[in-house]
Amino acid sequence: MSRSEELKTRRTAAVASGVGTRGIYAERAENAELWDVDGKRYIDLAAGIAVNNTGHRHPKVMAAVAKQADAFTHTCFHVAPYESYVSLAERLNKSTPGDFDKKTMLVTTGAEAVENAVKMARAFTGRSGVIAFSGAFHGRTLMGMALCGKVQPYKKAFGAMPPEVYHAAFPNSYHGITPEMSLAQLDQLFKSTIDPERVAAIILEPVQGEGGFNIAPAEFLRGLREVCDTYGIILIADEVQAGMARTGKLFAMEHAGVAADLVTMAKGLAGGFPLSAVTGRSEVVDAAPTGGIGGTYAGNPLAVAAAHAVLDVIVEEDLCARAEEVGNALRERLDALAARQGLEAIGDVRGLGAMVAFELVTDRATRTPDAALTQAIVAEAEARGLIILPCGTHGNVVRLLPPLTIPMAQVDEALDILEASIEAAVGQTRAAA
Ligand code: PMP
Repeated sequence: MSRSEELKTRRTAAVASGVGTRGIYAERAENAELWDVDGKRYIDLAAGIAVNNTGHRHPKVMAAVAKQADAFTHTCFHVAPYESYVSLAERLNKSTPGDFDKKTMLVTTGAEAVENAVKMARAFTGRSGVIAFSGAFHGRTLMGMALCGKVQPYKKAFGAMPPEVYHAAFPNSYHGITPEMSLAQLDQLFKSTIDPERVAAIILEPVQGEGGFNIAPAEFLRGLREVCDTYGIILIADEVQAGMARTGKLFAMEHAGVAADLVTMAKGLAGGFPLSAVTGRSEVVDAAPTGGIGGTYAGNPLAVAAAHAVLDVIVEEDLCARAEEVGNALRERLDALAARQGLEAIGDVRGLGAMVAFELVTDRATRTPDAALTQAIVAEAEARGLIILPCGTHGNVVRLLPPLTIPMAQVDEALDILEASIEAAVGQTRAAA
């Protein structure tokens, strides 16, 4: 029995089955490469789900964490605060979009950042309604789960959702949902379901992650900004997956030139250490009463040190430009594959920067989702030493999230493996049909 098989058996016996896992048991990782416990090498185009934007174990991040570990690892910011938290807040206040006074709070996970953003919006407006979108993913806590726009597996079996959470359709050009249709639905929601003056916040991902890398068009974001300004609603941009240089800008909202009132960040923020943040308008952030937000581990010093190093590396290595370069290489090859006869299953190729995805369909005319083929491609790739992730409300999208520090030779190698995996999976599933 291989070590991976042995670990799988032990994992099945000891770990909650609700925690989904793949079969790759990691032993070590370096930049865009990962080796499993049996010594098998993988190119990692998942990056821990958009966390290792600076690659696994970036030397500057590791050095910053080691230096902090020599000083102290935890005091709890509520008990004995430290400068690095304050200076990170200063940096995030400056680097998030929006020409207004900002403040920041640090927490630990993406879901926690979302929870706190909603709490701030409610405290500031004195209202309770929150509007999210179909296909959204905002985390697995109670409010995060309620905000998700996908039932299976995030909401199924978990009882009553918190009240006053509503959903409108997210624009999706491939499936014919225009920004105008989405905004009209929002308007309809205000007429039929909730008075806009009872809505505290509208939350959205500028590029949906788990939902299938659907890009919010600039006109939609501008439309939402207008709606929020008209009714005094707080606009929350959930940049947990799309932020930190992933899309070719530090924040995805910058592509549209729209500033949200609050921004949530996590994942790529601290290059593999658990840290998240809410940054936004000072008056909104400060509406939460003292002691009402925070947490024991919130803004952990090791993770904060990592985040400072990540922000330095993004500038020093021009990772926004690298996101474009890597993303262009991925899209170019995928476009060529989609144009090839026999690969009509690739219905759509899309992305922003190095957040690239392709959607698989049984039929290009009907655009019917092909989740089985998606699973087969992911499995083929894994067998051939490439880590990629499925996503999408219908489970029929493959997403590519390479570290932004990946060498181009490994991008090419990954694309060769991906191409072979797609060909093999298409061959298998079409033969079985
Ligand atoms: N928001 C978005 C946009 C995400 O992609 C995720 C994680 N996939 C979350 C929130 C939740 O983050 P976490 O898993 O760290 O709680």
